[in-house]
Amino acid sequence: MMAGGPAALVMAALSQSISARTPERRLAFTNPHNGERYDACFFANGRYRPEGLAELNHALRDWRTGATRHMDPALFDLLVRVREKLEVSPRSHLKLVLGYRSPKTNRALHAQSHSVASKSQHMLGKATDISILGVSLSRLRDVALSLRGGGVGYYPHDGFVHIDTGSVRHWS
Ligand SMILES: [Zn+2]
Repeated sequence: MMAGGPAALVMAALSQSISARTPERRLAFTNPHNGERYDACFFANGRYRPEGLAELNHALRDWRTGATRHMDPALFDLLVRVREKLEVSPRSHLKLVLGYRSPKTNRALHAQSHSVASKSQHMLGKATDISILGVSLSRLRDVALSLRGGGVGYYPHDGFVHIDTGSVRHWS
């Protein structure tokens, strides 16, 4: 696609609110379950970068089964906004407790514990459970809530905050 084509213009307009301040957007994750680390630029020069999105989709795959899916790019944008508001460096790694969860894994976990929702934003590729080194969970929660980008769940005993791009709501 040409950089100046109509689709690029629409994409640029949609993301204008943060692109003005952040022409290049990147995310870095560490996965505590397998020790993997990722650092990918998923947006540059006014458009999403397929290679960067693919790397993040892989980073956020269901770590139990290896299943991947296309994650909502708006979720990545939301995480960038959270990180910016916290004034955390783009190079610092978010601890990724959970990204995508496949229906198969969810069924198995739901059978063990009904605290696992049978329908979750994780299965739709629209949620992450994260923490950030040096940032308290309550502050991470407050900043996520202030952005009103979707759902925010507070799990202090499990050591993470759930952030999704579903409807605006919160729970703990
Ligand atoms: Zn979650």
